[in-house]
Amino acid sequence: MIELLLQQGYADDWVAEAMKKVPRELFVHPDYAKASYSDTPLPIGLGQTISAPSIVAFMSKSLDVQDGMKMLEIGSGSGYQAAILAVLAGDSGSVYTVERIPELIALAKGNVEKLGLTNIKFIEGDGTKGYPQEAPYDRIIVTAASPSIPQPLVDQLADGGKLLIPVGSRMFQDLELVVKVGKEVETSNLMPVVFVPLIGEFGYK
Ligand code: SAM
Repeated sequence: MIELLLQQGYADDWVAEAMKKVPRELFVHPDYAKASYSDTPLPIGLGQTISAPSIVAFMSKSLDVQDGMKMLEIGSGSGYQAAILAVLAGDSGSVYTVERIPELIALAKGNVEKLGLTNIKFIEGDGTKGYPQEAPYDRIIVTAASPSIPQPLVDQLADGGKLLIPVGSRMFQDLELVVKVGKEVETSNLMPVVFVPLIGEFGYK
């Protein structure tokens, strides 16, 4: 599957190597184990999903992660995306991941422990407000659909930082890339996507 993601341009070599170190079957519900390597989102319980591998690869590639970066993820879900970012950032990097559903934090922590990754910190709460305690972040990734770009996330981005977020309706969104340079932000539209809603103060109510 990873070779296919490379051929199709969703992954580059660096992302593909990281994905090889994070077996998706460790993150999917046992009922769906056989579908682990299908390019489709799968249920993880509580009405939430683990995204399709092509989307995880494309978001990881578009985020342009470099060794040692400090990152913030909103929407831990199964912990799969956080684990790939943690591998990309290496031991000197860190991933803070915020999830609003406590049962999913427990699930994601258990999944990540299976891989022995120690550079991921889980935070329970409303990620639309970001996590100001550790800001600024070199990279921020939102893995749920927002009606607009939450201002706290832009505020918590470092100078030169990048933010990826699906923006649109509850049904269909565009994946937007925000680049912050000084006080300016530049936004570009990368591709149409479909995510579960981001629920919170600066997201869907
Ligand atoms: N990144 C996840 C993975 O690798 O499995 C998939 C994320 S799933 C598509 C979206 C997640 O966003 C869900 O777990 C949902 O509970 C979470 N979510 C929705 N609104 C949130 C909010 N305001 N703060 C934090 N998490 C939120």
